[in-house]
Amino acid sequence: MTTLNAPHPPTAEIPVDDALALILAAVAPLPAEHIPFSQAAGRVLAAPVVAREAMPPFAASSRDGYAVIAADGEGTRRVIGEAVAGGVGGLVVTAGTAARITTGAPLPAGADAVVMVEDTTPGSVALEHGSGGDIGAAGGTDRDRGGTGGAITVRRAVVAGENVRPVGQDYGAGEVLLAPGAVLGPAEIGLLASAGAVEVDVYRRPRVIVYSTGDELVEPDAPLGPGQIRDSNRFAMAEAVKEAGGEVVFAGHLGDDADDVDALAAAVTSADVVVTSGGVSMGHLDLVKPWLATNGTLVFGRVRTKPGKPVTFALVGGTPCFALPGFPVSTLVCFELFVRPALRAMGGHADVRRPVWPVALAHDIAHAGDRVEFARAVVAVGADGRPVARTTGFQGSGRLLSMAGANALLRLEGAAGLARAGDVVPALIIAAVGGGA
Ligand code: AMP
Ligand code: MG
Repeated sequence: MTTLNAPHPPTAEIPVDDALALILAAVAPLPAEHIPFSQAAGRVLAAPVVAREAMPPFAASSRDGYAVIAADGEGTRRVIGEAVAGGVGGLVVTAGTAARITTGAPLPAGADAVVMVEDTTPGSVALEHGSGGDIGAAGGTDRDRGGTGGAITVRRAVVAGENVRPVGQDYGAGEVLLAPGAVLGPAEIGLLASAGAVEVDVYRRPRVIVYSTGDELVEPDAPLGPGQIRDSNRFAMAEAVKEAGGEVVFAGHLGDDADDVDALAAAVTSADVVVTSGGVSMGHLDLVKPWLATNGTLVFGRVRTKPGKPVTFALVGGTPCFALPGFPVSTLVCFELFVRPALRAMGGHADVRRPVWPVALAHDIAHAGDRVEFARAVVAVGADGRPVARTTGFQGSGRLLSMAGANALLRLEGAAGLARAGDVVPALIIAAVGGGA
């Protein structure tokens, strides 16, 4: 492959919303893969999960108490034994009898309801014979209370079905438990375990190669020499990839040197997505954008946004490549605006964008009048329930501190270049919002 040593001519500057639309038109969900359910957290289902059995699979008590025949009403019953969770059954409740039962135990044959233990009184009359029951698996029950083999008095009559979870109350065999597109969180993973769905079809996670570029960069543990700064973008971008559901297959650093930048040739063939920072401005050592233009197709190379004007999106051999500007805030804001939605789409998420809330500004904010500016802010919900935003201080695109702790990007636009306290503006919510504004 050839590399250029000269800056690429400026490309047309396009609106920020057009840039995202171009990206989303260029990416698609990756193929599905079949993986163990326990490794599928955060993934998106590509095929439905169907229940093989009903849940519950047997009529089960939802309380600790006594299994009875509801029609017997109130009064004293002979206790014939105990049904415990995990027990195999075998008790038969007949008129005038009850079986002690624990939560989750199968309802004994003949019984049609459970009286809570709180609605019973231990019987005072010891009756002559109690049957053994299926005392077994689950420990921890107080076997004395109520008197297995004794009697109990039901103080409050129950109706048939009371405190019983019937077969299939949650779902029936053959029912679709999770549809394609479902995102697998803790509840969904639990559901898969419960249904015995130990393998699932999910969209593959995008495999991403990350490169920071710049001769001035040294490793985080290095002392700083003259003119040097520590590489922060490589690490911030790698975390952002993971947060977006991608897999970082390699994260490295390239110098401002044509041979170094040529490493991108290998990257585009071994990853689903390549993300770089730096090297997209107009300096003669900004080699990333020229490399992409020479070796692939630039979809766009300038966006009417602040920060992030020189952000570049290219397809090289079909691989989406994002070349983000090097200022650390520009890098992360552009990642939010452009890379994250692409990674989400490739991972099969239907919902690729952050939520946008209307938020009231707590103070005036000056912004660029000629571009859409994304100001880093903390949004909090006030006592009146309305979200209020404050910026994180000086908004320089090199000031990573302005991104630290921010949970929102305020979208500020308009030729006046000034948003007033009390104005309501759209905010991309990028992290959890708390109270206390
Ligand atoms: P560039 O986009 O390469 O012109 O870089 C713009 C600014 O961001 C320069 O001040 C760089 O030193 C700084 N910068 C570039 N890459 C990084 C990085 N990986 N970590 C921290 N700062 C960076
Ligand atoms: Mg640079």
